[in-house]
Formats: sequence, C-alpha cells, structure tokens
Amino acid sequence: MLTDYTNMTAERVAQVVDDAIAAGEKLIGNVIATDGDRTYDNTMAPLDQAITGAQDAYGVGGFMAQVHSEETVRKAGADAEQKNDKWLAGLAFRSDLFQIIKAYGESDDAAALDGERRRNLEFWLRDFRRAGQELSQGERDAIEDLKKRLIELNVTYESNLAEWQDGIEMTPEDLDGLPEAFIERLAPGQTEGTYLVTVDYPDYVPFMNESTNRELRRQLQFKFLNRGGEANIALLNEAVRVRWDMAGKLGYSSFADYAMEIKMADLKAVADFYASIEPGLTELGVAELTVLQELMEKDHPGEEIMPWDWMFYDTLQRKLDFGVDDNEVSEYFPLEAAVAGMFDICGEMFGIDFAQVEDPTAWHPDVSVYEITDRASGKLLAHYYADLHPRPGKFSHAACWRLKAGVAQADGYRQPIAVVAANFTKPSGDTPSLLKHDEVNTLFHEFGHVLHNALTEAQLPRFSGTQTERDFVEAPSQIMENWIWEPEVLQRFARHYETGQPIPTELVTKMVAARDQNVGLKMLRQVFYGHYDMALHGGDAPSDASEAYFDLVGITLVPAHPDTHLGASFGHMMSDGYVAGYYGYLWSKVYGDDMFSVFEDEGVLNPEVGMRYRSAILARGGTADGMELLRDFLGREPSSQAFLKKIGLGS
Ligand SMILES: [Zn+2]
Repeated sequence: MLTDYTNMTAERVAQVVDDAIAAGEKLIGNVIATDGDRTYDNTMAPLDQAITGAQDAYGVGGFMAQVHSEETVRKAGADAEQKNDKWLAGLAFRSDLFQIIKAYGESDDAAALDGERRRNLEFWLRDFRRAGQELSQGERDAIEDLKKRLIELNVTYESNLAEWQDGIEMTPEDLDGLPEAFIERLAPGQTEGTYLVTVDYPDYVPFMNESTNRELRRQLQFKFLNRGGEANIALLNEAVRVRWDMAGKLGYSSFADYAMEIKMADLKAVADFYASIEPGLTELGVAELTVLQELMEKDHPGEEIMPWDWMFYDTLQRKLDFGVDDNEVSEYFPLEAAVAGMFDICGEMFGIDFAQVEDPTAWHPDVSVYEITDRASGKLLAHYYADLHPRPGKFSHAACWRLKAGVAQADGYRQPIAVVAANFTKPSGDTPSLLKHDEVNTLFHEFGHVLHNALTEAQLPRFSGTQTERDFVEAPSQIMENWIWEPEVLQRFARHYETGQPIPTELVTKMVAARDQNVGLKMLRQVFYGHYDMALHGGDAPSDASEAYFDLVGITLVPAHPDTHLGASFGHMMSDGYVAGYYGYLWSKVYGDDMFSVFEDEGVLNPEVGMRYRSAILARGGTADGMELLRDFLGREPSSQAFLKKIGLGS
C-alpha cells in the first residue's frame, strides 16, 4: 500500500513522527519491563521494530523537507527529521537499554545467534561503546548534547542552502555562447528584456561551461561559491569543533579516527590510497592544464587560467579536439527514452520488470512511480519514485532516499520503497527534456542506489539495502556509471529525439575518446576535497574551514577563487555519513570499476554475471562487511588495477 502524499500538511508531517516515536517508546518500555529469560525475540526484535517504525516515519514526514511544494510543509519536514534523528541517535545513549542488551549479550540465547541477528547484536554493543556507555554519566550526557548540537547545526546549514537565492540579471548580449534552449527557459529579470541566471545547478553549470563572457563567469562563480555565506562557514567551523570534542571525550586521537572505526578504510589506508594515485594524477593534470592554457591564450593573451575559466576551456577543448558537443549529444538522450533504456538494461541483467503505477498519489504531479517485480517469480519486489525536475525549494542536487526499508515481518517480507530526486530540465514546448551525457550518468548512478535498496533481501532494518559501510555504499552506484560508455549499451536506447536515428557509432567513439579528457584535473579536484575533509577531521587538530580551502586548493593545480568560502555550501562536510569519508567516492569508484571488470571480461550485458552481482552484492546490503561482499563477487582480492588502467595509469 503506497502512502497518499497528495494532502500532506505540516500537522500530518509532525503527527507521523510523534506517533512513531511514541510507538517506539512503548516497545522499548516493554523490553525493559520484561521479566525472566531474555531472548532475541523479547529483547532485540522489538528494537528492530521500533527502528523500522522511525525509518518509515521519515519516509512519510521528514522526507517532505526535500521535495514538498509548500514551504510550511518543508519546514515541518525538516523539524520532523530533526526530531526523528535525535530520537534514533539517542537510543545508544540510554543506559537502561545498554544494561539490558549487555545482559542479553551474555546469555546462552545470544551465544547461539548467527547471521544478521548476531551481527545486529555486535553492532548494538559497538554503538553503545561508541556512545560512551563505559564512561561516567556526566561525560555521557556531554557527548549526547554534542551529538544533538551537531544535528541542529546540520539542519540549519542545509536549510540556509535550500532557501539561498542569488543570481545575475543578464541582457541577451551577456548570454553570448549559450544555446537557445538554455536562454528560453531562463526566468525574466526585473529589468525589461533581461534574464535571471541563478546560482542553481541547471543555470550555473551550463553558464560556466559555455558563456564567452569571462567577467560574468567570474561574477557568477563568486556568487556560487558564496552560497550559504558567512553564516554557514561559522556553522561548519562549530560542527568541526564539536566533532573533535566528542571524539576526544571517547578516547580517539581525532574525529577521523573515531568515524573510520566503522568503515572499510582507516586513516592509513586512505593516505596510502592517495599516495598511490596522486603523483600520476598530478603529472597528468599538469599536461592537461598546458593544453587549456594554450586554448585560453587566443582569447586572453598572457593570462593565467583561473577557477572560472577551466570549465569553459574544458568544454571548448571537447568541441575542438573530439568534435563532441554536449548539446548535440543530448539530442540522443530524451529523458523518457533514457529511463526506458535504463529499465530495459537493468531488467535484462538483474531479472526484474518495471511497470508504471497509475494515479500514484505522490507529492507532486511531476513524480512517476514504478513497481519493480521479479522476472522469474513475478513477485512484487519494490516501488521506485522518480521526481526528476526542479521546483522552487526542492532539493537542489540529485540523490536517492529510501522511503521504506525491505525487512522481514511477521506476515512476510515487507517491500522497500526508494526515491530519486533530481533536477533535470523540464520539457518545454515541443522540446523534450534532453539530458546531457553527465546527467545520464547521474540518472544511472542514482538508480544504482535504488537497485541496492529495491533488491535487498536483508531481514533487519539495520542491514537493509544501502545500510552498508559508508565507504562501500557508493560502489553499487559507481559501477552503474560504466554502462553508459559502452557502445553496445548506448545503441539500445540513445535515439535522436527528432529523427529517431540511433546515436552514430562515430559519435559514441568520440564520446568514449573524450571521456578521459582532463581526467587528471577532475580526479585531482576529488583528491583535494578528500584532503580538505581530512584537514578538518584528521591529523592533530582541526583546520579552519576557510583557511583549509586556500591551503589545499593548490592540489587542483588551479588557484583559489579569492574571497569565496567553499565550506559554506560543501554539504558533505555537514553530513554525518560523509564526514571523514569524502575519500569514499574515489575509494568506491575503485571497487565499482573492479566489479565492472568482471562484466567486461564476461560480457557487459551478461545476465548470468548480472544475477551473480544481484545476489552477491545487491541482495545482501550490509549483512556482511563490504570487503567480504567484494571477495565473494570477484572470487579474488579486490584491486585498484581496473581503475588505474581506465584513467591511463598503470597497466
Ligand atoms: Zn551516490
């Protein structure tokens, strides 16, 4: 039964979360009051049920903060999320609960546990230790206060960003170089005959890529890099101090040391990882920058490439060197066909079918909902919500959320629900929504998270779908990005929106050749973000969020944009899941590429490999360590060879 989201109100959003917390409290109260022998069923199972309830409440209430059209409902959603998160985070701090689970952990029943149930108990005990249950009451209270403060800081930071509005009014001449389709959908400026170019991604990215006006590129980027303003820099700096404070109280040498205890990698593994790829990337990047500098020489003799130049010359170089024009390519990727193609390919490889739900009662008419069924058994596996176009106040990037986890329940397996919110241009007039190739990439990437959630067979909410180690969770989405570069795959669905002609082989060949253009510079940006994260959270003491940007930006080989504040809009540095974990993107990419190499060896659309991948990786969620899942699927130790080979390093 799907939730009816058509009449969401601020009151209902608040009520859903209050009810879930009340129900959870009742379950926990019963656990504590239980007399006699403790068993999994009378001690742990009610906790699983309480957590499922709170997670479900997020899917109805808190999630509205990301997508609802009314500001009051978004605000109520943000409040509800905060309340929900605080309650869930608070469980590990309850000493009554700790005493009971500790006692259960010493019982014969616990000693006989295996599989997910054993892992769940171990994870609870680890949570309690990390929450400082072995410390004094006063120290524990202090840690809980710090955690609550972090949640508040995060919510305020995110809402500052979501509500941030800025842009530049431009005359038609100011828009030189931009395609007609871009200009047509711009909002009018306040002055007659002008257009408003905002700092939102659908405006900002094309403008930086294609505007020939260097000064306006500089001005727009200045505004873009100051989203969130001084207020958010202060919030980030406070969050970083709070994190270190907390880690210190728990006996860790840095916040990263604490955060990475529950990840695949540790500080040393990450340092080794960067050390192994950075010299090669820098060498590559220096050579790439020389080419961009030569291109700019024609327009601006004697001037150095600045941060507001490199996207433009990267785009220009792509047109010149490879004859690949992003807009020409996008004519082969009307959104609907790209989605249908993705369903077709995933259906074939992973043995699933998709059917659109009529009248889905979602939160906005733009949202499409699909049933995902198992091809072999015909059984319903999951639902997928696709909310793909921008709206005022909506989440401004692309991401996947789980609205319901797949879990075992008394009356059978409860099917998961996942959603993708993205910001692909809406169709206008006769022009359908045409995706840039990197938007097709985003579509496939986020759908990797959907599949991870949808095809889970985990029994417990703690291990369902994307509930894996944070530095593993991107591997099943990173792997998806590989398929859209395979001519064999593209030719199945990439057709010109007017002529219906399949994408020419020649163009695909050029796209593949252009793929790694400036990959050194692009990867170095990722390495820079990873080092920035570690400057804030690793080492001996935290750096200031603005100073760290200027200290480290040299890694990118492009100078800093003066007087900007990367940290004010770098949401990853505020999100618990990614803090001391930004390296995880490259790290997961390495393992995504490694897993894809199995498909390359045995056929990129080989359903037999697809089904093996489904059962070894997707079905298992977080029921085992990421390293173990990888070894099981690969049949060998994981390696970075496929990744290095792809970017032209190593053999
Ligand atoms: Zn992702």
